[in-house]
Amino acid sequence: MLLLNKIDDVRKNIKDWKEEKYTIGLVPTMGALHKGHASLIKKAKETCDKVIVSIFVNPIQFGPNEDYDKYPRTIEKDSELCRELGVDIIFAPAPEEMYGENKKLSNNEFTFIYPAYNYVDCMCGKSRPGHFDGVATVVMKLFNITKADYAFFGQKDAQQLFILKQVVKDLNLDINIISCPIVRETDGLALSSRNTYLSETERKNAITISKALFKIKELYETGIKDTNIMFDTAISILNKDIDLEYLEFRNFETFEKVNELKKNTLIAIAAKSGKTRLIDNIIL
Ligand code: AMP
Repeated sequence: MLLLNKIDDVRKNIKDWKEEKYTIGLVPTMGALHKGHASLIKKAKETCDKVIVSIFVNPIQFGPNEDYDKYPRTIEKDSELCRELGVDIIFAPAPEEMYGENKKLSNNEFTFIYPAYNYVDCMCGKSRPGHFDGVATVVMKLFNITKADYAFFGQKDAQQLFILKQVVKDLNLDINIISCPIVRETDGLALSSRNTYLSETERKNAITISKALFKIKELYETGIKDTNIMFDTAISILNKDIDLEYLEFRNFETFEKVNELKKNTLIAIAAKSGKTRLIDNIIL
């Protein structure tokens, strides 16, 4: 396995792989890898001849008051896991490698990708303005650098997944986006690099987020479809110290809000436990 920091070094390897007609899979991550990331890597290994994992805490997707500085960075442990999983290249660039030296990372001095407003100006995009522009921009850069045939994303970040699929479609990019299911702890909590921020009590309270989602699914399976009933049920399950940001019901094909649940409805939650913002969802 190669651990590369420079775009040119990645490109040299890609050129050789392309000559050999290998299929290339990309797993974009911000590191602090856990079993959720591992599931994406395993899927990439099954699907592709060569696998690149990018590890990059992307400054342009963090707001000014967010956790960019304190985001966990565990490259040695991450490398060990990637090696065990048979990853071919880890691409772990410095911010300067991706965005140049001395640039102000705004659209005055740098080219951004702006996904369609309807998908960005809602849910996580409401409380994190600019977040998905930063995500789309870095992901397009990674697609161009790696020339991957397949890219693997978790359903955990459902809005991100939806937006990236749209960008690929709208810009006719020649890459297949593969969606991978959410990996959870045995008690239901969705794995996240940010779970390390949680105190014991905050973690215990956070379990009620997935509990609320599972209850909604259970009710749906008994024939209840009204989202108002689902909303009230979820509120009654969420621990009182969980600070709900949104609970939304959307058609995962169009991203439109729905009043009645049906197949392919996305039920998505964002909430804070203590100071830590968590997201989770299920798709019926
Ligand atoms: P991150 O490092 O948090 O940016 O995540 C990198 C990729 O891993 C994204 O596509 C996430 O959706 C995915 N991911 C994060 N947590 C999970 C999880 N618990 N299960 C499945 N995929 C996940």
